[in-house]
Amino acid sequence: MASDATGEQLDAVVETVRAAGGSAFVSRGVHRTIVGLVGDIEQFQSLNLQTFAGVADVVRISTPYKLVSRDNHPATSTVNVAGVEIGPSTFTLIAGPCAVETPEQTLAAARMAKNAGAALLRGGAYKPRTSPYAFQGLGEKGLRILAEVRDEVGLPIVTEVVDAHDVDTVASYADMLQIGTRNMQNFGLLQAVGSIGKPVMLKRGMNATIEEWLMAAEYVAQRGNLDIVLCERGIRTFETATRNTLDISAVPVVHQLSHLPVVVDPSHSGGRRDLVVPLSRAAIAAGADAVIVDVHPHPEQALCDGPQALVDEDLEQLAAAVRDLPPLLGRRLS
Ligand code: PEP
Ligand code: MN
Repeated sequence: MASDATGEQLDAVVETVRAAGGSAFVSRGVHRTIVGLVGDIEQFQSLNLQTFAGVADVVRISTPYKLVSRDNHPATSTVNVAGVEIGPSTFTLIAGPCAVETPEQTLAAARMAKNAGAALLRGGAYKPRTSPYAFQGLGEKGLRILAEVRDEVGLPIVTEVVDAHDVDTVASYADMLQIGTRNMQNFGLLQAVGSIGKPVMLKRGMNATIEEWLMAAEYVAQRGNLDIVLCERGIRTFETATRNTLDISAVPVVHQLSHLPVVVDPSHSGGRRDLVVPLSRAAIAAGADAVIVDVHPHPEQALCDGPQALVDEDLEQLAAAVRDLPPLLGRRLS
């Protein structure tokens, strides 16, 4: 309450809360009185208490996300993607081309990924491009290529869906559906992927706070799908040396706040091949449950994100990092 709030103003707040079925605990200090509310928080929100005379501020203490919060679910979740575990006792490498371009390119990239120790293959068939003139992906033809390569190489596939209308089509091929940074707050799309029985990788919006990201995950969870992994892929800052700034703090912070596994994408955050291995090492050290990286057999010919794609030399270093570092943190490679 404001320091000059009257007794009637305090009573009005307490009575309103009680009439709404909540409890109100009044603590009187020397200068201020604080009213602690216990009960259904969402209902308290609709009381608009901050507009009441004499109220100085309304501060929410509990997290606005319930299903993905660690409060209600102390053990870290393990998400099973067609038999591949992403969770606290494993470390998972996900690798593949940024975009599916041809069957040959996808197969070559998948073999590179597998040789480096990847357990899952990534690759976009529907590409959310900043420019409408840029390569938009092969659509369902790309999904068919991914499915063929999965059969040939034996790696389950992770692929992006950009439109709620395509969720069923993408889910009929994919082992895990990716929601990209540009769609993190596309709530209709989040609800659509929440209603299908496939795991979801939810990338952090490039301008989103961690709380907004967890609220986005809550949209998926609320529809009944708790097989969610969160992917930190870099955020926009004033820095121009890198494509985005990898928010490495997000890994331990999200692990404290949520039970969901955390993946790091060092390719889209740095945007530069030479940064992918150091950022991957940092991600593993910070406790990431997986990293997802772009690889390409001929980055100079790539239709999307060639400058960040790993080639054979860097992949060897990455393979060494994912083999040697996770065991130091008590994890085995998926
Ligand atoms: C991607 O992974 O291919 C991609 C488009 O990533 P982001 O949404 O993080 O930019
Ligand atoms: Mn990309």
